Amino acid sequence: MNYKISRIAETIHASLPSPADPDHEISILLTDSRSLTYPDQSIFFAIRTRNNDGHRYMRDLYDRGVRHFVARHIPDDMASATDAVILLVPSVTRALQDLARAHRSRFDIPVVGITGSRGKTTVKEWLYQLLSSDYSIVRSPRSYNSQIGVPLSIWELDTDTTMAIFEAGISLPDEMTALQGIIKPNIGIITNIGPEHADGFTSLRTKCDEKVILMRDCDVIIYNGDDRVISEAVSEACIPAKEIAWSTRDSDRPLFISAIRRHRETTDIDFSYLRTDGSVTIPFTSDADIQNAIHCLALMLYLNRPADITASRISQLAPVATRMEVKEGVNDCLVIYDAYTSDLNSLQPALDFLNRRRTGRRSVTAIISDVMHETLEPQRLYREVARLLTQRGVDRVIGVGEEISANSRYFPADSRFFPSTSVMLSEMSADDFDRELVLVKGASRFHFEMIAEMLEARQHETVLEVNLDALVSNFNLYRSMLRPTTGIICMVKASGYGAGSYELAKTLQAQGAAYMAVAVLDEGVELREAGITMPVMVMNPHVANYKTMFAYRLEPEVYSFGILREIIREGEKCGITDFPVHIKLDTGMHRLGFIPEEIPELIDLLRRQKVVRPHSLFSHLATADCPHLNSYTEGQLKLFDSMCAQIQSAFSHYIMRHILNSAGIARYPSHQYDMVRLGIGLYGVATLPGGEPAGLRTVSSLRTVIISIREWPAGTTIGYGCRGVCTRRSRIATIPVGYADGIDRHLGNGGMRVWINGHRCPSIGNICMDACMIDVTDADCQVGDRVEIFGDNVPVEDLSDVLDTIPYEMLTSVSTRVKRIYYRE
Ligand SMILES: *Cc1c(COP(=O)(O)O)cnc(C)c1O
Repeated sequence: MNYKISRIAETIHASLPSPADPDHEISILLTDSRSLTYPDQSIFFAIRTRNNDGHRYMRDLYDRGVRHFVARHIPDDMASATDAVILLVPSVTRALQDLARAHRSRFDIPVVGITGSRGKTTVKEWLYQLLSSDYSIVRSPRSYNSQIGVPLSIWELDTDTTMAIFEAGISLPDEMTALQGIIKPNIGIITNIGPEHADGFTSLRTKCDEKVILMRDCDVIIYNGDDRVISEAVSEACIPAKEIAWSTRDSDRPLFISAIRRHRETTDIDFSYLRTDGSVTIPFTSDADIQNAIHCLALMLYLNRPADITASRISQLAPVATRMEVKEGVNDCLVIYDAYTSDLNSLQPALDFLNRRRTGRRSVTAIISDVMHETLEPQRLYREVARLLTQRGVDRVIGVGEEISANSRYFPADSRFFPSTSVMLSEMSADDFDRELVLVKGASRFHFEMIAEMLEARQHETVLEVNLDALVSNFNLYRSMLRPTTGIICMVKASGYGAGSYELAKTLQAQGAAYMAVAVLDEGVELREAGITMPVMVMNPHVANYKTMFAYRLEPEVYSFGILREIIREGEKCGITDFPVHIKLDTGMHRLGFIPEEIPELIDLLRRQKVVRPHSLFSHLATADCPHLNSYTEGQLKLFDSMCAQIQSAFSHYIMRHILNSAGIARYPSHQYDMVRLGIGLYGVATLPGGEPAGLRTVSSLRTVIISIREWPAGTTIGYGCRGVCTRRSRIATIPVGYADGIDRHLGNGGMRVWINGHRCPSIGNICMDACMIDVTDADCQVGDRVEIFGDNVPVEDLSDVLDTIPYEMLTSVSTRVKRIYYRE
């Protein structure tokens, strides 16, 4: 859809500056400078988030041809850009939302708004699968459901759109009102409300009330009537809408689910809707999928779709994969596997994800399948796909499918095309990929997981899986315990508590963390070279190479006169002034830091030089997680206050303070000062007795696969020293993980119980260097099945308790030879 710039200015209440051509047409709203494709038709919204500021990217975009901007002020480096048209507004996010609201109001079509904790994306995609042959549908790409994502999705509404489906997600109270005003759904679906995103909400009910706001102007609301919290929230909200509450118990509900029969791979659902009976079969069996399917069924019934059509389409629903995985691949490649639907809409976010991981010299290859049609005819569609890929720096395209092959002429010269995945796999091998970034993205019927597998460094092995969404959720949980202005320093020392610092830093930078703290300089250098721009603290800066430290602006922690003098001396040589440092005070940990008697000399030394400037004062609590030693902690806090006051009084600039670690945040929030240092809690490990704080999610899972199974008679001995003995006829599995991977030998002989297909199975015999044996007599399993050593099903504490240590040690013991895999849900 095109809008004249004069009309955009009027809608967002900005005045059009003089060089502007009022009739210039805009078709693209840009909020991320990396997504630029058509400079001439784009208008850039310089949005400021907690951690980033769009104003910083205006000049770069101007140099790349963008001439239209919405901003709060004109940045200094734009002063010379006299032909830029900058619309000035008090809030750029608000302006974006205003524009979306105005755009939405032009459409009188069914608009479905989906909210809930889980299942939003699945319901959205399934409705699309069910209805796309009856309607021309616009839907939010991937899970674009935020305060910025929703307006961008709304913008996709075009004159030929006949239905829209949008997700609305909220992470803080009061956000839904804004989203409701933009989406204005007339059909509302509440999927389910669970504690998953434990966040800024005080209770399930408050969260539910907030979600119900989306339904305010709906003609119909679809929800699970068996869920008491949702039912109460809906009825108390007194919305005049028709309700389709479905129930498996109450036959008076409009949609009564009379029977659910699970088979091996399908489930039959019998129902009666307004006294007419019916039945559908879905190709899924999990509770979550059944619920999601019932929501979709309810909408099909409401829309009066013929029963036979509904049943036949529902029986063909395809799974929705929302995972985006980053894996180390063969020949030093980095593989990004996106199993989400393949359409033009979802290609852009995948390319953005890819571009954020572009490091140094690697070239970029995209392996893509036929793209779903939507409304474009194939030629235009593939010309657009090719253009998008080239604009985002893809050097080579490997196209799989009849259609994309027929349109190969639009793609870069050394691209290759194959009619099917199997032909591609027979003609290409891992050797065709070398030191490149590879995007693998295909429609589910192309089974691109086979390509992803071919590109994986080693297929059947032990990996540490890191769930970046769980990391974000934990970060937000701690953030919700703090004042909004308190900065969070994320401790990614020991390579992110074993999880690998770069991907974590990348994710946390985007979430608005104030600082990253690494253990040694090399870790900091690695982050900088990989493109991490946020402030970084180095906890043990003792290094030979101070030049690098200064050049990369890695801020050292200063814990002794020795190190302070060394930094000053080296800084003088390099002509450095005012370099930020963080002064460590010893208030009771007795590890590192200045003690009270040293403060006068410290002040004196700092005041006599210009190389460094104290940026923060901090200390570390020794007993924050020991409630029986509260008085020790309180003594430390008191001493910290007085030491800080003494130092601060000697300087005219404000010096920040921080002392709380994860346990401290939960127990002493009144001492959050300017920042806190969050470590183990980020990784989902509770620090307080009773598993508090509640709502943390597991970030790291160590998993492997069964590589062999054999059955032995009673009395057989297993492994070195015949230490394992089968007490009955036993099935013994071997898994490729041993003490060289970080599995302590004390976990042998029943010390650990791994998770296989729903069963906890004990180790048997001694742990070997590269393998160990598991008694799987009671589990239904075979070679190739997945084994979880710790993760969602086996708390890491189970293992650290056996070893008489703490989860920190278990997490950081997973050796570097274990490959790390990062994913988002
Ligand atoms: C490790 C560390 C933290 C984080 O502690 P957690 O208990 O993991 O939250 C904070 N500050 C310092 C100085 C640390 O060394």
